[in-house]
Amino acid sequence: MEIIKTILPPENLKPLFKDASQLLFGQQFTDYMFTLTYNQEKGWHRPEIKPYGSLVMDPAALVFHYSQEVFEGQKAYKSPEGDILMFRPLENAKRLNRSLERMCMPTIPEVDILHYECELLKIEKRWIPDQKGTALYMRPTVIATEAILGVRPSSEFLFFIILSPSGPYFPEGFNPVGLWVSREISRAAEGGTGEVKAGGNYGGSLAAIKTAMEKGYSQVLWLDAKEHRYVEEVGAMNIFFVIEDKLVTPPLTGTILPGITRKSILDISPDLGITTEEKMITIEELCQGISDGRVTEMFGAGTAAVVSPIGKLNVDDREYTLNDNQTGPWSNKIYQELTAIQYGEKPDTYNWVYRIT
Ligand SMILES: *Cc1c(COP(=O)(O)O)cnc(C)c1O
Repeated sequence: MEIIKTILPPENLKPLFKDASQLLFGQQFTDYMFTLTYNQEKGWHRPEIKPYGSLVMDPAALVFHYSQEVFEGQKAYKSPEGDILMFRPLENAKRLNRSLERMCMPTIPEVDILHYECELLKIEKRWIPDQKGTALYMRPTVIATEAILGVRPSSEFLFFIILSPSGPYFPEGFNPVGLWVSREISRAAEGGTGEVKAGGNYGGSLAAIKTAMEKGYSQVLWLDAKEHRYVEEVGAMNIFFVIEDKLVTPPLTGTILPGITRKSILDISPDLGITTEEKMITIEELCQGISDGRVTEMFGAGTAAVVSPIGKLNVDDREYTLNDNQTGPWSNKIYQELTAIQYGEKPDTYNWVYRIT
């Protein structure tokens, strides 16, 4: 399908950020957005690149009432040669479709998603910052737009992609963050939507995030919803532990979001001489392990922060410190390796980098 493009005269473009090193996460948006419409008669139709702006929607649209919404989070980088790079973008497209299916929304062919992303990125190339640690964050989103208050799947949808030049996800940058363990509020339960990127998951987690912040921690460590013992995720990231010279992460049991960063870390580890294991670990084992020195590092892994070292853990008002609240060697090594591939500084031996020349 031919994309309809509305191009602004140069004098109407937004001023570019002045200093890429000052960029924060998701605070500024580019000049254009992509939209694609769905109805039952035409299916997905009318792909459009147009000036970034408000959406006009009926207040009865299903997304506002029952959160029929899914999204993705990915990044575009600028290579040392000035090419646009994306990291495993088809994995994001596949996951978007898994999320759409789980939420009774129509899927979009993966090659089409990638094509739309590329066309938008080509027009917005000037917004991709080139400093290490910065990128153009992409947020593909699908919402239910039918105006009706019955609880049933919508028959009309809107897919849009917005872009945001971004710096570190945490104001701490690549420095350890502190976690608070949520004993009562759960993120995802068996049979729920925890393994897809549905907006409703995040709304329900805010109460715990608020408590964590009030207590002076920047993220929540999520436990399983059934026994409230097994460690599952950290904030909106997957979790890794270094336990007795092994890199450990919980298995994908259905309540954990299958992160592309997680998968990539498990894939590169053998080549870094790191042994990995997917295994469940209880909060009690974790605390004991930190106390007796068997757990030496912890970090979160996700697109936004890539690797986010964890320096402190508050469990039932007792604080545990990891690696003297400093970034540990394993966290650093994995961060350096993965970002070197993403920014095109290292040969792409895994075939993960999608290059737009
Ligand atoms: C997006 C997300 C992740 C990380 O996924 P990536 O593909 O690595 O960005 C992990 N956990 C949750 C809950 C998420 O929403």
